[in-house]
Amino acid sequence: MPDEFWVRIFEMVPSELREVLEYTLRHNTWRKKETINLIASENAMSPLALSAYVTDMMHRYAEGKPFKRYYQGTRYVDEVEVRAAKILGELLNNALVDPRPISGTTANASVFRVLGGCGSKAVIAPVQAGAHVSHTKFGTLGALCIEHIEMPYDPENLNVDVDKAVKLIEQIKPSFAVLGGSVYLFPHPVREIAEAIHSVGGKLVYDAAHVLGLIVGKRWRNPLDYGADVMTASTHKTFPGPQGGIVATRDEKLYKSIGKAIFPYFVSNHHLHRLPALAVTAIEMKYFGEAYADQVVRNAKALAEALAAEGFKVLGEHLGYTRSHQVVLDVRPQGGGAKAAKMLEEANIIVNKNLLPYDPPDAIKDPSGLRLGVQEMTRYGMREDNMKDIARFMKRVLIDKEDARKIAREVAEYRKEFLEVKYCFDVNTIKDNKLYLLF
Ligand SMILES: *Cc1c(COP(=O)(O)O)cnc(C)c1O
Repeated sequence: MPDEFWVRIFEMVPSELREVLEYTLRHNTWRKKETINLIASENAMSPLALSAYVTDMMHRYAEGKPFKRYYQGTRYVDEVEVRAAKILGELLNNALVDPRPISGTTANASVFRVLGGCGSKAVIAPVQAGAHVSHTKFGTLGALCIEHIEMPYDPENLNVDVDKAVKLIEQIKPSFAVLGGSVYLFPHPVREIAEAIHSVGGKLVYDAAHVLGLIVGKRWRNPLDYGADVMTASTHKTFPGPQGGIVATRDEKLYKSIGKAIFPYFVSNHHLHRLPALAVTAIEMKYFGEAYADQVVRNAKALAEALAAEGFKVLGEHLGYTRSHQVVLDVRPQGGGAKAAKMLEEANIIVNKNLLPYDPPDAIKDPSGLRLGVQEMTRYGMREDNMKDIARFMKRVLIDKEDARKIAREVAEYRKEFLEVKYCFDVNTIKDNKLYLLF
């Protein structure tokens, strides 16, 4: 039920407007307060980051680089952008960071465009092995007419097949290779692939869209320390900032040429209200990031173990299930990924269906698996014991086939203990709405 404030607004406005407001409010209540959200690419911003997000900067333009803009009126935007880039660069142990890509895909486009011209070749994992659509001919790579050569993958070890990949790179001599992905449980062999690609004059891109928060929190190897030439990332997956992207590198020349591709090739204005929220999140990660990333990795392992104990087929058992924020299930015994994901949604548990390494690529509409990520629930304060409770809820839905609506009510009740974001400056104690009204 909307509170009195909204009821009064509803009375003032035409019904078409009321409907938009109502659906928005319902979304907010449902997804933010009543569900267990296990989408591996999502997160929640801190109260301070949120308040810094809703500002007048969302109305402004600032094409170009800080202090060299094509517009006037940007003096404070410039200061904030420089600080966001600087603090992220420090968190990545001395990197040059460009925070202007408005998404991870835009970051990839800018980097791929600089490293490979039309007709060049790139070695990247296949989609079933966790590559992102932007790595494929159906996405950014295709739009840039760069040829996708599949990185050899070992489904047994759920990782790149290093020996075969090195041979392939030496034979094909691609312009660049990409590691990192949307589904991955274990670190990719950065050093080995970097050596191979460098030996043929190419570059290594590490797509850290999913693991930026774990890297900053020192629970995932920083690929720039292991030979990657450039890293791209989203700023809203394990890194709990506003939706957006970054490019990071230690190569000054590459940094400059990628900057020239970001603007004007792939963004004109770069959605400036992201920048203060990004800087706030980065600074909060400096203080709280290690504790957060540590708990994320512990929770993922705990969830995997608990799901296996409840009778699910969890990928990677012989490897300890996971070292990232993700857990991957094979739910063919429960009717397949599409059906299982829908059943869980009915019970207020939000996940996505996913291809598994042994699925054919055209199984995308009904793949065998589910991908789960624990980062957002960790931000809201869940720990290992809560992972056991989540596994039990999932068993009751998918294995015991209990009434989903009944479980949905229990899940909403369970979430009530986990409504405040942790691992940030504790401004929740200041009960003053002004925080959200910085604008
Ligand atoms: C999510 C993702 C991206 C794209 O990020 P957006 O910010 O959604 O554009 C790129 N690469 C990988 C591996 C991803 O998982």
